Amino acid sequence: PEAPPAHKRILLKLSGEALMGDDAFGINRSTIVRMVEEVSEVVRMGVQVAVVIGGGNIFRGVAGGAVGMDRATADYMGMLATVMNSLALADAMNKQGLIARVMSAIAIEQVVEPYVRPKALQYLEEGKVVIFAAGTGNPFFTTDTAAALRGAEIGAELVLKATKVDGVYSADPNKDPSATRYAKISFDDAIAQNLGIMDATAFALCRDQKLPIKVFSIFKHGALKRVVQGADEGTLVYA
Ligand code: UDP
Repeated sequence: PEAPPAHKRILLKLSGEALMGDDAFGINRSTIVRMVEEVSEVVRMGVQVAVVIGGGNIFRGVAGGAVGMDRATADYMGMLATVMNSLALADAMNKQGLIARVMSAIAIEQVVEPYVRPKALQYLEEGKVVIFAAGTGNPFFTTDTAAALRGAEIGAELVLKATKVDGVYSADPNKDPSATRYAKISFDDAIAQNLGIMDATAFALCRDQKLPIKVFSIFKHGALKRVVQGADEGTLVYA
């Protein structure tokens, strides 16, 4: 028999870059399909799933095409990029048998419905996947912070930060073969060791709210499911 889920409600943070797959830009179809398969597995277990997706595969407020731009304007463009990714993700989820709803932090009502907390909670109770688009709705923030914020708001038990590496290591595992993965680490130790797990605002919010973070690889088949079952996978950051 399968291990039951250890968590009832989770907030999954996907980076925009994760959608690129091996492409240099944009959204890679087979990558998004694979990612949705992983999410479907945990939804089918009865876990309530909310998602925050970044926009770095399309636009980032502080890099590339944004250099030389007014920062706030560039950040609004970045937020709009997350709306595009959210639409693509919801579309893929709906095609693969899930029911997904996108809620935007910026009013753009002809495209997606606005974020309304009680409605998001209702959708989650109904087993729908809720995708929070447009980050926090504010410039100078990141989608990591949106993940921490929405995670706290909806009472998620865990923020799942999907990365390319399967956890937090003592050193960069691509450069140092002796690097070891931390199974768990406290917020305080992560700060003391200067481990950049999420940006400082997101990290502080999770720490204050005692909202644990699990860092794992979305590209390791079945990892999301194992994490939700409470397996020793990735790295748990705890208060
Ligand atoms: N952004 C913002 N406020 C937010 C979230 C995002 O201004 O609350 C902008 C910011 O310019 C950022 C871009 O949107 O660079 C894309 O988000 P992020 O870099 O977090 O995406 P990821 O790195 O996860 O793909």
